[in-house]
Amino acid sequence: MEINEIIARQNDFFNSNQTKRLDFRIEQLKKIKSILKENEDLLYNAIYEDFRKSEFETYGSELSLLYHEINTFVKNIKKWSKRKKVSTGLANFPAKSYIIPEPLGTTLVIGAWNYPYQLSLMPAITSLAAGNTVLLKPSELPSKTSEAMAKIINDNFSSDYFCVIEGGVKQTTELLEYRFDKIFFTGSIPVGKIIYQAAAKHLTPVTLELGGKSPTFVLADTDIKITAQRIAWAKFYNAGQTCVAPDYILVDKSIEQKFLEALKNEIERYHKSNETEITENYTQIINTNNFDRLTKLIDNNKVFFGGKTNRQERFISPTILQNVTFKDEIMQDEIFGPILPVISYTDLDEAINRVKERPKPLACYIYSKNRKTINKLLKEISFGGGAINDSLMQLTNSKLPFGGVGLSGIGSYHGKAGFDTFTHYKSILDKPFWLEPGIKYAPYSAKKMKLIKWFFE
Ligand code: NAD
Repeated sequence: MEINEIIARQNDFFNSNQTKRLDFRIEQLKKIKSILKENEDLLYNAIYEDFRKSEFETYGSELSLLYHEINTFVKNIKKWSKRKKVSTGLANFPAKSYIIPEPLGTTLVIGAWNYPYQLSLMPAITSLAAGNTVLLKPSELPSKTSEAMAKIINDNFSSDYFCVIEGGVKQTTELLEYRFDKIFFTGSIPVGKIIYQAAAKHLTPVTLELGGKSPTFVLADTDIKITAQRIAWAKFYNAGQTCVAPDYILVDKSIEQKFLEALKNEIERYHKSNETEITENYTQIINTNNFDRLTKLIDNNKVFFGGKTNRQERFISPTILQNVTFKDEIMQDEIFGPILPVISYTDLDEAINRVKERPKPLACYIYSKNRKTINKLLKEISFGGGAINDSLMQLTNSKLPFGGVGLSGIGSYHGKAGFDTFTHYKSILDKPFWLEPGIKYAPYSAKKMKLIKWFFE
């Protein structure tokens, strides 16, 4: 079927009002969960073929989050879809006022490759939970996972309601010619700008989940061992191909060496230092383009640990760079790979200013026991979201809206925030006929003016 026909049919299906029924939505969410469960092996195999991601990581960072999100929606959408009464005020007495959550219509979800299931299906599921229809375009880079999603969704759902269209730039460009009621995009900043421009032609609202360089502050009073443990896990999970991974470290000079040693010890617990092949604890780089881009960022003079690469295997060992400055090439763009530059500072205010000179990051992490300093950093630096004394784990709490600010994104999702993203809140003033004071009608008079002023002032 041609794209324009699928969109026209989704519009018709939406206009049939079926998706507005909560029992229909709950049934569809449960159906998605059972299809995912039935096809777990297919999903594990596809992602392994694409970048050797282990079952453990695939479950922990993809499927578990999807199941949890579906459960959250099944449990809450009745409550979230209720009309909400608000007060009315004397000017409209004896009217009532309320807000009705309503779905937007036909929505387009464009996914990124690094967590291919979660970043495509989570927004798609959210949109369906809010009562929309969905056209999903996953990233083409992990071709097997894209194929797997197309298979399990297109075999089990009518394309009038939920449909996966596979493809890359050409197909996405074509999709963007059409008018949608909402576009939800996850990906890079340059492509985010293309999406925003295309959406503007139709005045389509967008959510843009983008990237950036997420700083991680390690202050002098932190627990060095646990800090190293949490940062090493977060940075090298999925081989650093995580939008909210700690991109670089800002460490107090007085603990720099101890911290570097602790990071090294931590990595060595699960990676042998001479390793050059993927093991079950580690993931491949998605493709050779990214492998080549990343290996160019490793300045051999600055390698403190790691730096081992194998192009055939698309393997880059967990790598720590030391004595890095803000001028180094690795500090110019988001790294999105297993290389961790460490910059030491002697003046925290100066470090804060260096971060503030740059685009607002998607995430920021602060490791310290000092509440005063933590609050100072939270107040002074703008970023999408983050964690204190941890990294990445904020994502597992669906009560925390997930999204960027400034160049790292527009809008947010996860849990209720996602429901809101795909919902229009329709405001209604509801008035009976039995009272009509007439004050607003001509002829105007000084007495009416006085009365109006009394109302409003
Ligand atoms: P990308 O921008 O290259 O691709 C994302 C999507 O856009 C893909 O589906 C792709 O097919 C499509 N696309 C690519 N070029 C296009 C073009 N010219 N016109 C129209 N569509 C196009 O991003 P990526 O490489 O898949 O992901 C990496 C980036 O995404 C990183 O910057 C990362 O930080 C960011 N990211 C953000 C989040 C988040 O939730 N905020 C999550 C994951 C990744």
